[in-house]
Amino acid sequence: MSSLRIAIVGAGPGGLMLASLLQHNGIHCTIFELDKDRSTRSQGGIIDLHPESGQLALREAGLFEEFEKHLLPGAEAMKLVKSDGTVRWDENNMEGVEAGPARNRPEIDRPTLRNILLDSIDPASIQWGRKLVRVKANETSTDKYTLHFTDGREEGFDLVIGADGAWSKVRLLLTDQLPIYSGVTLLDMKAEEVSRKKLWLESFTGSGSCFMFDEGRALICQRNGNDIIRVYAAVRQPETWLNDCGIDWQNPGLARKDFTERYFGDCHEDLRRVIAVEASDSLLARPLFMLPVGFEWAPHAGVTLLGDAAHLMTPFAGVGVNVALADALSLARALITRKDALEVNLKQSLAEALREYEGPMFERAKENMNKTWVGLQHHLSADGIEDRVGRLQARAKQIEERKARHSEVGGSRAV
Ligand SMILES: Cc1cc2nc3c(=O)[nH]c(=O)nc-3n(C[C@H](O)[C@H](O)[C@H](O)COP(=O)(O)OP(=O)(O)OC[C@H]3O[C@@H](n4cnc5c(N)ncnc54)[C@H](O)[C@@H]3O)c2cc1C
Repeated sequence: MSSLRIAIVGAGPGGLMLASLLQHNGIHCTIFELDKDRSTRSQGGIIDLHPESGQLALREAGLFEEFEKHLLPGAEAMKLVKSDGTVRWDENNMEGVEAGPARNRPEIDRPTLRNILLDSIDPASIQWGRKLVRVKANETSTDKYTLHFTDGREEGFDLVIGADGAWSKVRLLLTDQLPIYSGVTLLDMKAEEVSRKKLWLESFTGSGSCFMFDEGRALICQRNGNDIIRVYAAVRQPETWLNDCGIDWQNPGLARKDFTERYFGDCHEDLRRVIAVEASDSLLARPLFMLPVGFEWAPHAGVTLLGDAAHLMTPFAGVGVNVALADALSLARALITRKDALEVNLKQSLAEALREYEGPMFERAKENMNKTWVGLQHHLSADGIEDRVGRLQARAKQIEERKARHSEVGGSRAV
């Protein structure tokens, strides 16, 4: 075991993946999480993990097989609908089109992913119910950094990793940049026990995700595990809209109907029904925030960030968890390869490790923040659906052509 004292603040996917990788390589770390326990809070919807990032991190942590056991069958299927109700693409009803599985982005429920990661770490290394207030750098003490918590306790560490999400307290030590409003607010809704109570919504959504994109608005229905369908309605509105739009958010049933009439009133009745009638089991309005594309901070000995704390993005490219897991993997590698050197020359080895991690991480973050910003414009644009259909058709054609080439090659060999 190393004597390096590492604090990871935040037990989201990024922080837990880092802890898992470090601990499997004999590097001790302590995780501080504000939630009281693993089941305190709903962890949100499904997550698709990409081969080059999320899946790779799981493989390296030895968790890929466990992940495969919990995949949601058929959840990759995509359906695209226009605001007038025209179905432009539906992988639930496409014979011979392998577009869903060919993307190799299998979906898992977020709570399941968190449990897989939690079960892979030493339970004694995670401190639940510990909310960080601030990190203080010490000039003289042997503790390089002191973490201050809401419970009044203080603890000292050599390396502090902020994996504490959008409103990171660790980030405040590195920069005064706060998240900025993206221009879009999301209504996050849910329908439960759908196979018993919401058969129409089940059939409308299909086995995966159903999207409607239009100018200034979007609607997304996503099948989750546990017989749940999540519904997200996005509108491009000013930051103050939630408070000054006049919708009574205290009365969710009325709020959904009022919202539907005002912002989706001219849509096909099926789309209106999804919000006003079907998504009746919870309603949470979230203004979406982001860090500026290309955000970076100056190197700071012994403190760094990963995941949303480092590069908060809106969900419009579906990459946040994947990038957080890729960050965890590259930071873990930078520390693991210096495991012995860290014991001998802590200051220099830590600086090298953080330099090795932060350079490529900033590049990866910029690329994905950019992709997400473009994704936001697409999702909320009049030609968003036609655009996506065009890309899916081109991809399906490529797959068909590749298959044809393979069978030709196979055929000539046989001759
Ligand atoms: C509606 C929605 C849909 C999304 N869909 C997708 C998707 O399909 N695919 C995808 O890849 N990404 C998606 N994302 C993005 C994804 O949720 C985030 O990018 C991801 O959760 C980031 O992981 P993280 O570990 O960096 O931070 P988080 O998941 O935010 O975890 C941070 C942790 O830190 C804890 N914490 C915060 N402050 C403190 C404190 N002061 N002290 C102690 N603990 C603290 C929190 O309780 C939390 O457990 C979506 C986001 C939203 C909002």
